[in-house]
Amino acid sequence: MVKYIIRLDDACDTQDMQKWNEIEKILDEFSIKPIVGVIPKNQDEQLKYSKKNENLWDLIKKWQSKEWVIALHGYNHKCFKIKRGNRQFLPLNDVSEFVGLKNKEQKKKLQKSIDIFRKNGVYPNVFMAPCHSFDVETLNSLRSVSNINFISDGFSFRPYLRYGYKWIPQQLWKFKLMPFGIWTVCLHPSSMSNDNFKSLYKTLKVHSKKFVNPNQIFNNYKFSKYNLFDFIFSCTYRVLLFFKKSVKNNLLLLIKNIIVQCKKIKILN
Ligand SMILES: [Zn+2]
Repeated sequence: MVKYIIRLDDACDTQDMQKWNEIEKILDEFSIKPIVGVIPKNQDEQLKYSKKNENLWDLIKKWQSKEWVIALHGYNHKCFKIKRGNRQFLPLNDVSEFVGLKNKEQKKKLQKSIDIFRKNGVYPNVFMAPCHSFDVETLNSLRSVSNINFISDGFSFRPYLRYGYKWIPQQLWKFKLMPFGIWTVCLHPSSMSNDNFKSLYKTLKVHSKKFVNPNQIFNNYKFSKYNLFDFIFSCTYRVLLFFKKSVKNNLLLLIKNIIVQCKKIKILN
């Protein structure tokens, strides 16, 4: 049977509180437990939706008490342009908080992040990299400063073992009906529109039973090593995503050009 997990990105002390309240209300109504990526010291200007909330950690503990899974989402989410030639696991974005940095630097960032979590009595067991960008050094550094066992990222139709971690793939950014497999839907509550909330609500009204508590996967799934099928799936999925993005961009360009041409015709007439 197909199963889904919801992942909420970019919880931080400057998140859009109203929208996070809205998503919490919807998820509670359908008893859905998400994975929440928390940025312990946000310095990403694009994520400054409000003034600093001094009670962020109380909120995180409240979520934890409802069995929401808390994940470490980097240290400050301040991403830099990745240098050409620096390899990363999921080349979805050309910016990162970690990719290409030396082990010592990555360790330092992750240690600082872990320290803030611990100081506030929260012990995450999941890592999700800002912008999906991380490399082997990120995983090595994470191993040396934390007990984290799970990675929320990657493309496959199933969770797997890789580089000593248990990976729960994250393949979707909105709900799509799939025939089988375990799928994570990634949402960014602070930037969701009213229509996004409405569409999520409609989806959950019909499909909420397909959404599982991530702890069920963590505790009961029989993880096996990343294999050729995962690799083929990942390559195919990346190619499809690339084409989808290109078609969308080209279509937008085409529409823009048509509008410009129409305006010119109007002026000439
Ligand atoms: Zn993020």
